[in-house]
Amino acid sequence: MDFAALAPTLQSRLAKLGINRAFDLVLHLPLRYEDETQLLPIADALMGTSVLVEGEVQTLDVMFRPKKQLVARVADASGMLVVRLINYYPNQAAQLAVGKRVRLYGEIRRGFWGDEMVHPKIKSVGDGAALSEALTPVYPTTAGMNQAAIAKLIGKALRECRLSDTLPAAMLADYGLPAFADSVQLLHAPTPDIPNVLLQHRTHPAWRRLKFDELLAQQLSLRMARAARREKNAPVIAADGRLAAQLVASLPFALTRAQNRVLLDIARDLKTPHPMQRLLQGDVGSGKTIVAAIAACHAIECGYQVALLAPTEILAEQHYRKLSSWLAPLGIKVVWLAGSLKAKDKRAAIEDAALGTAPLVVGTHAIFQQQVEFKNLGLVIVDEQHRFGVAQRLALRAKGSSPHQLMMSATPIPRTLAMSFYADLDVSVIDELPPGRTPIVTKLISDARRDEVIARIAAKVMEGRQVYWVCPLIEESEALQLQTAVDAHAQLSEELQGVAVGLLHGRMKPDEKAAVMAEFIANRIQVLVATTVIEVGVDVANASLMVIEHAERMGLAQLHQLRGRVGRGAHASLCVLLYSGPLGDTAKARLRVIFENTDGFVIAQEDLRIRGPGELAGVRQSGVPMLRFADLEADADLVEAAREAAEGLLANDLPATIAHLDRWLPGREALLRV
Ligand code: ADP
Ligand code: MG
Repeated sequence: MDFAALAPTLQSRLAKLGINRAFDLVLHLPLRYEDETQLLPIADALMGTSVLVEGEVQTLDVMFRPKKQLVARVADASGMLVVRLINYYPNQAAQLAVGKRVRLYGEIRRGFWGDEMVHPKIKSVGDGAALSEALTPVYPTTAGMNQAAIAKLIGKALRECRLSDTLPAAMLADYGLPAFADSVQLLHAPTPDIPNVLLQHRTHPAWRRLKFDELLAQQLSLRMARAARREKNAPVIAADGRLAAQLVASLPFALTRAQNRVLLDIARDLKTPHPMQRLLQGDVGSGKTIVAAIAACHAIECGYQVALLAPTEILAEQHYRKLSSWLAPLGIKVVWLAGSLKAKDKRAAIEDAALGTAPLVVGTHAIFQQQVEFKNLGLVIVDEQHRFGVAQRLALRAKGSSPHQLMMSATPIPRTLAMSFYADLDVSVIDELPPGRTPIVTKLISDARRDEVIARIAAKVMEGRQVYWVCPLIEESEALQLQTAVDAHAQLSEELQGVAVGLLHGRMKPDEKAAVMAEFIANRIQVLVATTVIEVGVDVANASLMVIEHAERMGLAQLHQLRGRVGRGAHASLCVLLYSGPLGDTAKARLRVIFENTDGFVIAQEDLRIRGPGELAGVRQSGVPMLRFADLEADADLVEAAREAAEGLLANDLPATIAHLDRWLPGREALLRV
């Protein structure tokens, strides 16, 4: 099939469906099927099910109330059915002329005039016309292209494309999977003996084959990209740990077992001559910053520079303060590089990086990307990695060789997601919190009880504690009607006389934000009203109450992150989720997850279940191909199988690897060059 020869308008319509070559038509699988292989007597059709019936039109009327519509009555030997068309063409009226025989496919519902089908598929038939032999596929389609048109193109592609298997027969036998050609033929035109439920739930072996293929392609491309990066050289950082030991000795706490374990992983990676690509996962408050500081010590001890990137200036500055307080006593100069610095200071910082006089530079991603070169960069640490995409993972490079990379994320990645979208990274997990934390109590409170919440804030402040009040948006949006941070700030200032209430939002200049944050850290501000700019990383141990407005509008991972801003000290902490009712079922289900769970992994798993992987952990921006067929939760076994199979295929069968990638991810070779 010559795809390029199709009319340009047709090609552009197909492109909207992600179809850019003939083979994409083969992989354009039905959303569902209609069973037009069996006629049902009208009397046997169940309410709420889609069925095919046949009968003779008894009456046909145009009704004008409540709006203009065509109402026909169709009867067979067993019973009668109303057919209703709200918008209709003259030829449809002709099909439904009294005395005509029609086949109707649609869902039976209870209507005003009796059991009815609204806008069924209507086909004029003579007596005993043949029924279809296969289930009728319903394809995803787009404006200007009807089912018949796309089905025809797909039929042609199925006849003309090579459908031979990309995978060795032995592998298919191992995993109990059918041949590719059989699978796609079946899915495009299943015979009626196949239980529709297996097709609908996508559990039929043919579906499993397609999902396996898709997951395998993803695994192969990620592994190849990773292998290509591994080929690169990185500095060998074989520190004896002298500097790190000094730092650890100066801390007021002992490292947790989990922190020590991940530090061993990191030290091992740094000693190899290839770039580390390690993701450090740890729930909010698990103590990732000190791990980063110790990793930095290894590099600095060996004479290399370290860059620490944070997604916001607030967080970057906070890291700068913390790392300075830990490292300056050891004689290590920490440099802060922010867009908001005065020109002179900025120039000095950039010079420090370029000349190698700054062993550790902390800043935002934006600034590093713009203008900074390092003399001798050995390690890049990226905090809150989920805020960045894969493409950005690699943006920072040292001259000559690639630096080691440590990515940190507090958004836990469920196992299957990690195996799938993050298969090109090594993962270390901090799975325990430092001792002595008091668990955070979470309360769901209606916005109608705002006054009580404000009274509770006053009480907390009296005890000497500090409070966050988080609002989702800064400006009044007509669509969302969210209360603004500015309003909340005005209201709280008014009602909490004698209490210093600060305001922090995304529209403020970086130095204004930094000033407010500094006041809050110093406890000169007791109540901080903020938009979600504080979502990541902020660490103020004295803050023990957080109120989140319009919690129902926020993502689960985001709520969990926000909530992690309190409960960092020894004081009992409370997180109040204010919601504006009435809540829909999904909103209720989501808030219940946050209310009932404190474990970030459980929350992430639920988030994955409710929203799919796209929204989670930056997957959408990750540059990794999204999955169309496989479902990371339902098909966890296939994710495992594909991972194992990818390993075997890459090691033993390069031709199959290439054929498979070419079929599933044409053009992905580009990824290999990243
Ligand atoms: P996150 O993993 O969310 O980035 P942080 O690194 O900000 O967490 O750590 C949270 C708090 O816990 C900080 O105040 C940090 O100094 C403290 N902390 C880190 N490790 C330990 C430990 N092993 N014992 C006690 N406190 C610790
Ligand atoms: Mg952090």
